[in-house]
Amino acid sequence: VTDPARSALMRRVRQARTAPEDRVAVLLRSLKIGYRRNVRGLPGTPDFANRSRRWAIFVMGCYWHHHTNCPHATVPKQNRTFWEAKFQANRRRDARKIQALRAKGIRVVLVWECDTKKSMVGLTERLSDVLKA
Ligand SMILES: [Zn+2]
Repeated sequence: VTDPARSALMRRVRQARTAPEDRVAVLLRSLKIGYRRNVRGLPGTPDFANRSRRWAIFVMGCYWHHHTNCPHATVPKQNRTFWEAKFQANRRRDARKIQALRAKGIRVVLVWECDTKKSMVGLTERLSDVLKA
């Protein structure tokens, strides 16, 4: 892969990864809720967390984390067994990190990618309720 092609690819990957997270960051700032991003000191490296207020947020891609009953959680028709096992492993890993955080007394909020693409009103209320509690 040539350099310009590579940097174009990296740019796309980065945008794809951060766009929903950026929307959550804007929302937290609008609620005047303090946070740190990509908190490596906590299990699973939460996308957002406030350790003294004991909460953590994961922004979950609907496809890779296989959001239940979500139209974006499709399974490729080719190699179906492989993909189903992979998505199941992702879900198990998610469940483990959520459990590890809860065991430390940290409230965990999951924000699904599709939540950030709808009206933000519902998500704003949900985060405000949980994080300001
Ligand atoms: Zn979804």
